[in-house]
Amino acid sequence: MATLGQYVLYNNEILPAAEAQLSVASSAVLYGLSVYSVFFAKHKPESMLAFRIPEHLTRLIQSARMIGLNGAEQFVEDKTFTEQIEKLIAANKPTTDQFFRLTVHATELVPGVKTADLELSFSVFMYEAEPILPADGVRLKTSLWRRTADSAIPARAKVNGAYVNSALAKQDALDAGFDDCLFLNHNGYVSELSAANVFMVKRGELITPDCASDILEGITRRSILELAAQHNIPVVERKVALTELYTADEVFACGTSAFVAAISEVDGRIINGNTTGPITTTLRNALTHAQQDTENAWVHTLPLG
Ligand code: PMP
Repeated sequence: MATLGQYVLYNNEILPAAEAQLSVASSAVLYGLSVYSVFFAKHKPESMLAFRIPEHLTRLIQSARMIGLNGAEQFVEDKTFTEQIEKLIAANKPTTDQFFRLTVHATELVPGVKTADLELSFSVFMYEAEPILPADGVRLKTSLWRRTADSAIPARAKVNGAYVNSALAKQDALDAGFDDCLFLNHNGYVSELSAANVFMVKRGELITPDCASDILEGITRRSILELAAQHNIPVVERKVALTELYTADEVFACGTSAFVAAISEVDGRIINGNTTGPITTTLRNALTHAQQDTENAWVHTLPLG
């Protein structure tokens, strides 16, 4: 279990974690009607270096809009948000790298199954940034559960309730002795992992399922595509067949909580002789470097307080 910060931000207040509670009768609890995002911050002796905050706030608001939760914008005014995160850091005094989970919850009590004009609340908690996958040698199992279709609950929106789909598939993979699942979508094409996007390398090209493959449009995915372009690695977003992964030169997953994780096996097919490939290594190093580079526009320096 990840080490949770003692204090959380809840509706503009810094509170002990135990005091930030949702009602059992709220839409958030009844229907999983909340949207969220998680950003990473690197711990330095005098500051935290937060990665791509504006992109996370934009995705949070877009997730809320997509499912019709109106009024979420009030929580993420750029300046106020950063000031609140600074207060949260000062309260928790982290000594390690952290993940920050931001959630807009529908806290209206028993309104029935609707999404508009509901009371909303906003929380942020932080926890030690332990990766959800090993950095190397990840073993995947194609899930018997398919990715929720864009026409059912859009994976593009980060909706809490939709994560039952991820939990089912991840548990299926864990039960079978694997590290994570690989989701196919309803058309049978490769989609993503339970909480990370997937890439493969074939003949020097970096290929990843496109945004119509029922994926969450990951912020790390976008960073990897941009870093690859900077390294003159050709990138392609398109439909990907499962058997293409079986025969790929390299496969890796990426996400805020997975960083860049090299996949060594998909359904028992060994990738790249069980070793981490050169393009995976280059892009992993590029991401690690970008996350620590105070000159990089993707990084916000927040004082430790
Ligand atoms: N796909 C899913 C289903 C996820 O939950 C995540 C984690 N947020 C990702 C991909 C990766 O997205 P990001 O890089 O924005 O963390």
